[in-house]
Amino acid sequence: MRQISLHDSRSRRPVALEPRDPGRVGIYACGPTVYARVHVGNARPFVVYSLLKRFLEHEGYAVTLVANITDVNDKIYDAARAAGRPSEELAREMTAHYVADTEALGLGRPDHEPLASEYIGPIVELIADLMEREAAYAVDGDVYFRVRSHPAYGELSRRDVDQMDQGEGVEGVSRKEDPLDFALWKAEKEGEDLAWDAPWGRGRPGWHIECSAMAEQLLGVELDIHGGGSDLLFPHHENEAAQTLAARGRPLARLWTHNGMLQLDDAKMAKSEGNIRGLGAVVEAVGRDALILYFVAGHYRQPLAYSRERLEEAARGVERIREAGRRISPAESSEDLAPLRDAFFDALADDFNTAKALASLYDWIREANRREGSVGDAHLREMLGVLGLENLLDAAVAAPPELVELAERRAQARAQRDFAEADRLRDELRAAGWEVRDGPEGPELVPAA
Ligand SMILES: [Zn+2]
Repeated sequence: MRQISLHDSRSRRPVALEPRDPGRVGIYACGPTVYARVHVGNARPFVVYSLLKRFLEHEGYAVTLVANITDVNDKIYDAARAAGRPSEELAREMTAHYVADTEALGLGRPDHEPLASEYIGPIVELIADLMEREAAYAVDGDVYFRVRSHPAYGELSRRDVDQMDQGEGVEGVSRKEDPLDFALWKAEKEGEDLAWDAPWGRGRPGWHIECSAMAEQLLGVELDIHGGGSDLLFPHHENEAAQTLAARGRPLARLWTHNGMLQLDDAKMAKSEGNIRGLGAVVEAVGRDALILYFVAGHYRQPLAYSRERLEEAARGVERIREAGRRISPAESSEDLAPLRDAFFDALADDFNTAKALASLYDWIREANRREGSVGDAHLREMLGVLGLENLLDAAVAAPPELVELAERRAQARAQRDFAEADRLRDELRAAGWEVRDGPEGPELVPAA
């Protein structure tokens, strides 16, 4: 096994991945608050942690990826009120959009996508444990975390306690013992349509507590890799870390990782792209292959410019890989190309440097293109598989025209809801050694594995 290291935000240095349970890695990545359709920036953590999981699996680990969905939140109440709709209904609709939009990335789903509203029991229990340890206190139905009772507070984000702002504004300020304290539970207020009973009063959880509760339920404390956008470092992650350590006496996570933000430059994007921001619309406009290659071209920790140039560059990369795929054939690759394949995986092992890995992938293609005669595609397929882009090679193998016709008849049968006929045609294709896969540009035929 390769030694894998990731930059740990807490210690601010590379830390070797040494899983709590040997051979098994648990990743918890903070997901979106579902008050509106997600935008392309929300796709970055989704892509980063989905691909990190693929890489770790390639290296032989059994990986569990948990990405939560925040479906109870002030933003959701506000958006629902503005739309004159029940907040639960809005959250459910936006959750479905989020799932569909990220599904279109074609990277599969995280192993668990817990909803805050489904973990109220464990959340209430965790808050009760914090109160018992005097790390939290109830006042008028609210519950707050007593920040100054927790000596480790500020260690993750390295902020001076006196310069911290929980971002809760004036809300609850008269009830807090200290303005620095943050809400674990908020008492039900006029105009809020969703609340649960708790020993200290009816209400709903604060934002940070859900992650501590859900991470512990699904992965246990001292989980291996915690992730999320760098905008969440403070206060969200600082508070998650404080809650779990104060309640359990053990850290929430062994390693804290953060992805850089997408830089959405209005001036550059406005005219040319029709200002496309919604993830669903972006996938439709540029295709999932180019979008994934765009993300992979940047190091996950760095900010990434979202621009027409970068997306076009990614689209050219997709073509370059497809072109290479057309020239090579399904077979083992020559051993003398192995160092370039190894350099790809070594770059990923060193703080998941996809940008550097991609350079090795292109080096491999360049070398392969120089070869006379047929070059086996195995290395390229292995590398692309970890990036979720192995389909670029599959699509390069053209199916015989009579099978393409069968696939078209199957699509028609499905459109007419004749599923028996569609299934029969699928079986016929399968018997001929081809599989119909729903690709970003509609159904495509790929050789059956
Ligand atoms: Zn979180």
